[in-house]
Amino acid sequence: MGAVSKPFEPTDQRPPRELPKLRLVVPESPTRAVAVPQAVPTHSSTMADTQTANSLPQHAELATPLQPTAKLLEELKEASRSLETATPEAIIQWASNRFAPHLTMATAFGPEGCVILSMLSRVAPATYVFNLETGYQFQQTLDLRDQIAEKYGVKVDMLKPELSVPEYEAVHGGPLYKSNPNQCCFDRKITVLRRAVEGKHAWMSGIRRDQSSDRAKISTVAWDSKFNLVKVSPLANWVKQDVWKRITDEAIPYNRLHDQGYPSVGCWPCTRAVPNGDDDERAGRWSGTQKTECGLHSLEADGSGI
Ligand code: SF4
Repeated sequence: MGAVSKPFEPTDQRPPRELPKLRLVVPESPTRAVAVPQAVPTHSSTMADTQTANSLPQHAELATPLQPTAKLLEELKEASRSLETATPEAIIQWASNRFAPHLTMATAFGPEGCVILSMLSRVAPATYVFNLETGYQFQQTLDLRDQIAEKYGVKVDMLKPELSVPEYEAVHGGPLYKSNPNQCCFDRKITVLRRAVEGKHAWMSGIRRDQSSDRAKISTVAWDSKFNLVKVSPLANWVKQDVWKRITDEAIPYNRLHDQGYPSVGCWPCTRAVPNGDDDERAGRWSGTQKTECGLHSLEADGSGI
């Protein structure tokens, strides 16, 4: 964790589109008491271009799940070793050659994700890319989808949980991110990701070793036992400066909240600007708690999953 010691006080007021530079916006608001409805709809659609993960279009025939056989694990170990000094583009190319059309990518439109999307448009444009649209993302994050699509022609599917935010908060008597953020992340991210990767063999993410002590352990290519598929991390070896140099050099669209003191951008109730900066890129996420990951990239007991 970074140096931020402020207790975790998630807000339940959506921030304005344009935030003043380096100003914390943390309004105090009591937990809302919301009556549980008689019948909770099992399906919702509030955004025309989003979809629930159990109604995904099939971009490729569902593949038979991979099994972590000794042979496969040895292949991944060898691939990771040989790709250790490869460029991200070469790693993506390898992943596409090996796993397409059963390769996918999850992006939260962080700087790393935007860089990989620009690479994908050149190296493997047919890759299926999705975003976990929890319903709590900043508008600036959602806007990036259109900017990326316009510049690179890469369409990112916005996958929602079964319950809309109002439905979910009604079921739990208020926002669960206040009382049980782990459960909220599980319901609104992990469950959706699990469905999204069904029938896939490999997924890519933009995590880097220098982002946190947990992420320092990642391999370029490894078996992810949490989701039962291969995890590819093309930027594992890059540092923060590499990412921002590429963004600057190629004018890659990025989340403007980074210019307003947000080192990392997640859901708005659980993300804070960090005045005066912080070396920890995860500072500002669930600040004041031990929680640093939503569960997508946290380490399993056997050392995999990150
Ligand atoms: Fe819920 Fe916060 Fe996790 Fe988003 S980051 S899913 S709002 S707990």
